[in-house]
Amino acid sequence: MLLTDIEIARAAKKRPIAEIGAKLGIPEAALIPYGRDKAKVDRSFIAGLDDRAEGRLILVTAVSPTPAGEGKTTTTVGLGDALARIGKRTAICIREASLGPNFGMKGGAAGGGLSQIVPMEEMNLHFTGDFHAITAAHNLLAAMIDNHIHWGNALDLDPRRITWRRVMDMNDRALRDIVVGLGGPANGYARETGFDITVASEVMAILCLARDLDDLQDRLGRIVVGYRRDKTAVTCRDLKADGAMTVLLREALQPNLVQTLENTPAFVHGGPFANIAHGCNSVMATGTALKLADYVVTEAGFGADLGAEKFFDIKCRKAGLKPAAAVIVATVRALKMHGGVARADLAREDVAALRVGCANLGRHIENVRGFGVPVVVAINHFAADTPAEIAALQAYVAGQGAEAILCDHWARGGAGAEDLARRVVALAEAGARFAPLYPDDLPLWDKIETIARRIYHAGEVAADPAVRAQLAAFEAAGHGPLPVCMAKTQYSFSTDPALRGAPSGHVVPVREVRLAAGAGFVVAICGEIMTMPGLPRVPAAESIGLDQAGNVVGLF
Ligand code: ADP
Ligand code: MG
Repeated sequence: MLLTDIEIARAAKKRPIAEIGAKLGIPEAALIPYGRDKAKVDRSFIAGLDDRAEGRLILVTAVSPTPAGEGKTTTTVGLGDALARIGKRTAICIREASLGPNFGMKGGAAGGGLSQIVPMEEMNLHFTGDFHAITAAHNLLAAMIDNHIHWGNALDLDPRRITWRRVMDMNDRALRDIVVGLGGPANGYARETGFDITVASEVMAILCLARDLDDLQDRLGRIVVGYRRDKTAVTCRDLKADGAMTVLLREALQPNLVQTLENTPAFVHGGPFANIAHGCNSVMATGTALKLADYVVTEAGFGADLGAEKFFDIKCRKAGLKPAAAVIVATVRALKMHGGVARADLAREDVAALRVGCANLGRHIENVRGFGVPVVVAINHFAADTPAEIAALQAYVAGQGAEAILCDHWARGGAGAEDLARRVVALAEAGARFAPLYPDDLPLWDKIETIARRIYHAGEVAADPAVRAQLAAFEAAGHGPLPVCMAKTQYSFSTDPALRGAPSGHVVPVREVRLAAGAGFVVAICGEIMTMPGLPRVPAAESIGLDQAGNVVGLF
């Protein structure tokens, strides 16, 4: 019988965390233990690494997601283990999991099968408390805003133009739109606001892009919380909240070290949304890992049109990172869906549909190469894939001048991704010429157009005059040099989630633009974007509990 992910994780032969740190040369004194098998890496140790050379950074990204699943995290872990097996000093960098979604639909964020990060229950629940700290810091600012208005509003903030909402790490649709301050003068001014989930907080994005505590406080200070009647911005620094927020985030900024099932070191840190934010592991964690390891494998959310583009154009640009190679994860199942096969029919061989669906992969290969980063395709093997389908996929990728390597790390662990690891090493050693897609000084609108035309192959970008006026206002306020963070559906190159494959010539409508001055990007919203999820009719929470031995059941 096949074991479930949680059964595999529970049977893991974990090594003491000091031993995992030692693999990267982290002295025990620089590890701050959080329980038995998790530790934070001390900031003073990290500060001392500045002069060291950096290892090679490998991005794991994927085709456009389908309900069939692709396995980016599983492949990130499997590749990391495989690199360790072939003798490379390796670290894995992935995101922490949001608490709320666990109680909605089953599914963890620590990989799967024999390619997992442990302790997986903790990683998917409270972990080291980082998200709680982010929630507290975010809500402190919200409390200080309403308090400021209550005590006379010296900054002249327009209560109707407050953009800073509240957050919590729970799927709770009832809190999307609320009224605060009801109950008379003692309770402040009544006004409309609402809650987002913690991973959608700008504080989350800031924590993930900050280089150190000073940079963190600087960025927090730059957060725009709302506007005056004359449309000038009021910031977190105006409210003097940045210092206290930094205090709340002091521990959270230090990266968390855990391990894989095969005892490879893994930094699990930060977890920004991949739509209204940039969707990757923290700069602190990736930067630290690069100073300590020869190879650092990291993952970006969604498909390469969103995840890889933001990884390159936001994270790498801002943190000065130079990726050496990219792995695009593809599955036979997902490509058959891109070729028109319904989910219920995926078990049947369909080479013709697979060939059609390969267009989606081809577009992502071309796009990633456009950043000057060499590409290899990892075929994440599922049990139902047939030899003819795999051969057709490999032939297609060969036709694109790349290689598609069959990997079965899900079933076999790192041993199943050694061929991939050797290919990644060969590509990385040959060298990349990474460059972001657009320069800082391009106007904001042109940045949006560049991404839509070059990456999505859109024919046109459409927006109301109000959207363009807003961009002009951001530029007038000095935010023109910021990169753009695109928020669109992850299921398609277009803004229509049902349009699979590789559509061209579509219109990308920009509905709204938002400023994240602290994080350092302008968000372009193209379509419906949910920042506070709800629970399904039968939430997973109904079947979650503890067994006789005190183990969590029903979570995965
Ligand atoms: P992503 O990071 O792309 O969202 P994950 O790596 O988290 O995807 O995998 C999603 C789910 O699919 C996990 O439950 C994982 O166990 C499962 N999965 C991944 N690869 C395979 C595979 N080759 N065979 C079966 N299940 C897999
Ligand atoms: Mg993932």
